[in-house]
Amino acid sequence: MVILGATGSVGRQALDVVAGQLGLELVGLSARRSVEPLLEAAVAHGVGRVAVTEPAAAARAAGAFAGEVLGGPDGLLRLVREAEADVVLNAVVGAAGLAASLATLEAGADLALANKESLIAGGPLVLAALARSGRRLLPVDSEHSAVLQCLGGVDGDGPEGIVLTASGGPFRGRTTDELADVTRSEALAHPTWAMGAKITVDSATLMNKGLEVIEAHVLFGVPYDRIEVVVHPQSIVHGLVRLRDGALLAHLGCPDMCVPISYALTYPERAATTAPRLDLTQAFSLDFEPPDLDTFRCLALAREAGEAGGTAPCVLNAANEAAVDAFLDGRIRFLDIAALVAGALERVAAEPVVSLAQLAEADATARAAVSDRLAVSAR
Ligand code: MG
Repeated sequence: MVILGATGSVGRQALDVVAGQLGLELVGLSARRSVEPLLEAAVAHGVGRVAVTEPAAAARAAGAFAGEVLGGPDGLLRLVREAEADVVLNAVVGAAGLAASLATLEAGADLALANKESLIAGGPLVLAALARSGRRLLPVDSEHSAVLQCLGGVDGDGPEGIVLTASGGPFRGRTTDELADVTRSEALAHPTWAMGAKITVDSATLMNKGLEVIEAHVLFGVPYDRIEVVVHPQSIVHGLVRLRDGALLAHLGCPDMCVPISYALTYPERAATTAPRLDLTQAFSLDFEPPDLDTFRCLALAREAGEAGGTAPCVLNAANEAAVDAFLDGRIRFLDIAALVAGALERVAAEPVVSLAQLAEADATARAAVSDRLAVSAR
């Protein structure tokens, strides 16, 4: 197997999963710019070929690694195309992961997908490549892995609906006024999951859940009006499916990404993991409440973009990536993220998805719409 984004949160946990599994052999690793941890992992796992997407970091890696270093975005795609892997775990951050997802399926490997942006920006292209490849697409996102596992018990007609749970993030229960002055470090203090900065901010705005609604629509082919979101602060129930007789199947466990990672890598088998076990001898409760769509506008914006279809989810995602970057850099306030995404969706008209080049253009136009707004407000 190959791990793309090996130095991020999911990538590092995947390396731990692989180390515990005799049947898995690593043949390639990639990172954007974290050279030292990448090379350390390559040496520890006996991997002779790595890709580093930032050119300056690639040059540094080449000088420090006895094996082969492929540089730049093309190097990443070459790693995927030439690895002859059975499975590629794509844990790249953001829309940059789409080309790698397509290359994985074109190379005839199963795609274990932690890069949800691939499906949001390029869902129709990924599904077409998947159908041509005859391979499998296995979600690593915990909610979607949970739904996939529940669907194992569903008959041919499929589920009546899907329910995605959301922790609610660090700002659950707050009003819009109370969010006006929240800081970067408050947004990065996630109550239940330890993740990278971008997805943690997305969890605070609930954009992450909005992106996951689109991801679920693409993965499972369920119409938007049958995909529910419920806030569940304990993050013990990861996903549910509704059946036509009124029953619900739920997937429970302590929040630990090694479970969905391991499931995707060993599917359809299940391997032992070191995940903590849910202790049912202690009293605890599971709470569920509806999301506050007026305060957390990003969730509603994502659903609207999903329903609009075509390039709208790509625009939503690109505008959000640009806005979250600006928030992490201290250039905008928390509530500006939703306003900037809404502005980009208004400015860029949705078109049916036809090509990767078209999506790259929609992505760039959306990012430009965000930077134009930032430039105007800076004057
Ligand atoms: Mg998730």
